[in-house]
Amino acid sequence: MFTPLTGRAVLVTGGTKGIGKGIAGVFAGAGANVVVVGRDPATGEPAAAELAGGEGEVAFVRADVREAADCERMAAETVERFGGIDVLCANAGVFPDVRLEDMTESDIDEIFATNVKGSMLSVKACLPALERSGRGRVILTSSITGPITGYPGWSHYGATKAAQLGFLRTAAIELAPKAITINAVLPGNIVTEGLAELGPEYRQKMEESIPQRRLGTVQDIGHAALFFATDEASYITGQAIVIDGGQVLPESLAALEAQ
Ligand code: NAP
Repeated sequence: MFTPLTGRAVLVTGGTKGIGKGIAGVFAGAGANVVVVGRDPATGEPAAAELAGGEGEVAFVRADVREAADCERMAAETVERFGGIDVLCANAGVFPDVRLEDMTESDIDEIFATNVKGSMLSVKACLPALERSGRGRVILTSSITGPITGYPGWSHYGATKAAQLGFLRTAAIELAPKAITINAVLPGNIVTEGLAELGPEYRQKMEESIPQRRLGTVQDIGHAALFFATDEASYITGQAIVIDGGQVLPESLAALEAQ
């Protein structure tokens, strides 16, 4: 049995939609008080209202993780509202697709600004509060794309998701004396609001390429993040866990057909 996370203060960047909203919902369901962060209040306020109403409180804070001052403010507002920060889920990320031959310098700068710099600035801003917690936890949302797999159009995205893992390994060493752990979740293909735009054919193809023959849910990712946040996971740091229904395992199409 895990020690309950009731009353812990959790900050989820990109918690207003998709995977981050799923992570926030799982933590709130476990009794934690959660701040969800995004740039757009028109999405963030209703998301927080939807997630509230359970055991844990949920509040929206507007911030852009590309900006150091915004990251400092989101951390300060979380401390003010919930008395500290026990868990940071640095999840905000973007994934525009563009082939290498058409990629501009600004395409590269933009994606690194959110996915890499944004993750690092978020962690840095929350460090003092995480240290005061005495059992601080950081969970990064990386991806299978980059660290393990590739997909045309996402070479820059894959580079950012692999960069997050490079960051976490040294951060884990630096943060260990402060009793802060840092780990990463690597989602496969997850059902989010954006999936519908890709059409039913895309979804069917993806399902066929996954040994469990289903896409992941945002709760699948939330539960893995929740585990890293428990007291019982205190000796795990610098690690990355794949949550993908076995998607990265088949060595070829034949391996799936032989199932
Ligand atoms: P999503 O549905 O598009 O949600 C992205 C969230 O991040 C939103 O809350 C968005 O809010 C926020 N955000 C984006 N840029 C931001 C910024 N500069 N500052 C603050 N918040 C920002 O995306 P998702 O699919 O859930 O992806 C979330 C994370 O999971 C990403 O890191 C992504 O790389 C990773 N991932 C996703 C999948 C998948 O299948 N969906 C698979 C593997 C990994 P605003 O737009 O209002 O700012």
